[in-house]
Amino acid sequence: MQRSQESGQTHMPLSQRVAQMLSLQTPSPITRFTPDWAGADMVSIDIKRDDLIHPIISGNKWRKLKYTLDALPASCRHIISFGGGYSNHLHACGYLCSQTDMRFTAIIRGDYRLSPSPMIADLQRWGADIVYVNKLTYQRRTDDDYLQQLQHQYPDAVIIPEGGSQQHALAGVAEILSEQQTHYDHVLVPVGSGATLAGLITALKPQQTATGIAVLKGEGYLEYLVNNLLSANRADTSWVIDHRFHGGGYGKSNKEIAALCEAVHTGYGIPIEPVYSGKLFLALKHMLAEGHFTKGSRLMVVHTGGLQGKRKV
Ligand SMILES: *Cc1c(COP(=O)(O)O)cnc(C)c1O
Repeated sequence: MQRSQESGQTHMPLSQRVAQMLSLQTPSPITRFTPDWAGADMVSIDIKRDDLIHPIISGNKWRKLKYTLDALPASCRHIISFGGGYSNHLHACGYLCSQTDMRFTAIIRGDYRLSPSPMIADLQRWGADIVYVNKLTYQRRTDDDYLQQLQHQYPDAVIIPEGGSQQHALAGVAEILSEQQTHYDHVLVPVGSGATLAGLITALKPQQTATGIAVLKGEGYLEYLVNNLLSANRADTSWVIDHRFHGGGYGKSNKEIAALCEAVHTGYGIPIEPVYSGKLFLALKHMLAEGHFTKGSRLMVVHTGGLQGKRKV
C-alpha cells in the first residue's frame, strides 16, 4: 500500500485503509457461552471475539493501534516499539509495517539470537529490524532520556510504547463496547498494562461495571497504571481489578489454567491461551461459582486474542 497517496484525493484515515486492505473483522462477532459450570445458568455470558478480528493483528492489539495509526504524521515511514520475545503487540506492529511499507524496529527484552521464538521468526520474515536489549536497558523503555536518545538515533521514527498502551489506545478499545447493541451489566477483561481496561472504563455507561483480571503480580501498581491513563475526572468506582488469578506472575501458568484452556477449546470451540485468556476464564469460572454476579446479569467477556503467543519453538 502506498502511504504517499495521502496528499491525493482520498483522505481515508490510515486505520480505515488498513482495515479494508486486511479485511479486518469489525465489529467483531459475539459467541454465546453456556458452560456447564456452577452458577453459569444464573447469568448470560457473551464472549466478544476480538480474537477473530484478524489472524495476526488480533484482539486488543488492533484496538489499541487503530487511533495510534491515525495519529501518525503523514510522512511517517518508521515505527519503533518494545516487547518481550512472544509479544503480541510486536507481532501486530511487524505485520502492519510490512503491509504498509513502513520500517519496523522491534526492541526486544532478552537475547533470542540462538533460538528465535516463532514471533521473532515472523518479524524477521517481515523484514523488521530486531534489537535485543538486556533487562536493565529494557527497564528504561519509558525513561525520557532513553527515549530522547532513541529518537536522536532514529530522527524520523515514531516510538510507540510497549503493548501499544498510550492515550491513543483508549478510543480504539472503547469501540469494543460501543459497537455493541446489547446492554451488558458487567465486562470482564484481562489486565497486563491496563490500557485495555482503561479504554473500556471510558466507554462504560451508568450502571455498567468493568472487572479486570490481573495476569501478573501487580496489586496497586496495575490500578495506578489504569488511573494514570484515565483522565482525573474518571476516578469512579465502576471498575475493579481482581488479583487472585495471576497464577504466580506474567507468563506463569499452572495445571488448572492449562486444563481450563484445553476444556474451553475442546468443550466450547473457543481457542484460548494461558497468558491472558486462560486467567480470565479461570476468574470467570470462580466468580460464577461464588455467585459474584446478580442473578440475570448480562456479562461480556472480552477475548483479547493473542493465540500466536502460545506457539512452540
Ligand atoms: C497485550 C494483551 C493483553 C493485555 O492488555 P493490556 O492493555 O496491556 O492490559 C491481554 N490479552 C492479550 C491477548 C494481549 O495480547
